[in-house]
Amino acid sequence: MKNPFENKELWFFVGSQDLYGTETLQKVVGQSKKICDALDASADIPVKIILKPTLKSQEAILQAFHDANRNENCIGIILWMHTFSPAKMWIRGLTVNTKPLLQLNTQSNVEIPWDSIDMDFMNLNQSAHGDREFGYIMTRLNIARKVVVGHYSNLQFTARIGKWARAATGWDALNHLKVCRIGDNMRDVAVTEGDKIEAENKFGVRVNTWSVNELTARVKTASDKQIQAVVDEYFNNYNVVPELCPGGKKHQSLIDAARIEVGLRSFLEEIGAEAVTDTFEDLGDLKQLPGVAIQRLMADGYGFGAEGDWKTAALVRLAKVMGYGIPGGASLMEDYTYNLVQGKEAVLGAHMLEICPTLTSAKPNMEIHQLGIGKKSDPVRLVFNADAKEGALVVTLLHLRDRFRMVANIVNVIRPEHDLPKLPVARALWQPEPSLEVSTECWILAGAGHHSAMTTATDYEIWENFARIAQLEFAIIDKNTTSRDFCQTLKFNQAYYKFDKGF
Ligand code: MN
Repeated sequence: MKNPFENKELWFFVGSQDLYGTETLQKVVGQSKKICDALDASADIPVKIILKPTLKSQEAILQAFHDANRNENCIGIILWMHTFSPAKMWIRGLTVNTKPLLQLNTQSNVEIPWDSIDMDFMNLNQSAHGDREFGYIMTRLNIARKVVVGHYSNLQFTARIGKWARAATGWDALNHLKVCRIGDNMRDVAVTEGDKIEAENKFGVRVNTWSVNELTARVKTASDKQIQAVVDEYFNNYNVVPELCPGGKKHQSLIDAARIEVGLRSFLEEIGAEAVTDTFEDLGDLKQLPGVAIQRLMADGYGFGAEGDWKTAALVRLAKVMGYGIPGGASLMEDYTYNLVQGKEAVLGAHMLEICPTLTSAKPNMEIHQLGIGKKSDPVRLVFNADAKEGALVVTLLHLRDRFRMVANIVNVIRPEHDLPKLPVARALWQPEPSLEVSTECWILAGAGHHSAMTTATDYEIWENFARIAQLEFAIIDKNTTSRDFCQTLKFNQAYYKFDKGF
């Protein structure tokens, strides 16, 4: 997958005013540069941070926001009120701004210089109240932003900025995302539907359909050389079962699967889509329901939703972007069946075929098994267990009548105690926080879907940042959740999101 942070920038706006004189303002620039350089050098923050000239007037502030809005590389703005920057100067700039905002409340020094501190020092290092003045105008204008407090030498401070930078990059990626739908939603299914116009209005994501005939045309014209290259990758990367090997009685199915992969990949590249859906009800002349092809596309950073589920396709892509470079992975997931043994309650998640191999560090098996659904030839798929991981997340997006709601659950992926020798699909076994009973009760009461994006790379804080940027309801189920409080929060949210725009 291409590095989504490449060429992306956060712009660092430092606010002050002319009141302090040249000498003090030079010190402001020096301190700003020191902090900006430290953030830029932090391994936790995956994008470049660019210091802009100190902002001291209403005109300069407005111009700076116009410049940021126009700049494609700028995915967000970090704001720090060094000294004191009277906040009315910021109103016009803030109201034209279109980029995610992070307000930094920091200062140059760690410790108060107890023996030498005088009024000059106090006047230079007064962002403790300068940032409060700025906080007021942001709240007064009802502007969503992240606030991070602390010193750049503190690793938690840079980590929090890094998580926000990932969310801001995800927001930018979603605003440029094309989701390709091959076929419609599975007939009569409710939760995978939704308002595509509202999705584009809210997230910028473009969701459109292409005929399966266009895909099958690319599959038919895949060259022997292209197919052979993919077959070679299969043998290099997976434990291929004997019946799929040359001379095996199902070897042709492996070649058919590789042909589908070549066609699907080139089709998506041609239309510029980085997420895709399909449906077993509309496969045209495809010989198999795409299994390994989808699994490998996901591993390369594509989003995927099954049965026409374009919202989950977008979420999986978002998880891929925000988690880039962090160990772990992301995949379409479906709560399939439970283990209800007391003390060992767990969800076994899987899908018909399409679980992403980034969830495992082991070498997957490549297998072929019968699939009754879809009335096609048996599909080739990768089979594995997801790695154990504490603090993984399942995230889903549902469309209510007037808006979207994001629901997330912190889950601990565990190793199955048993081998599951007859289960022919990749799977993950997890224990949801705070318990299977409470988590599932809340999930169901929230109306959250049966498809989710499972991520073992990104944590809830990154998603919370994303939801804040998107001004999206974010209902999190974690170790502190009780169903009573969760229901109450949903009710409050229902009222809040009705009136939010009016406040
Ligand atoms: Mn499904």
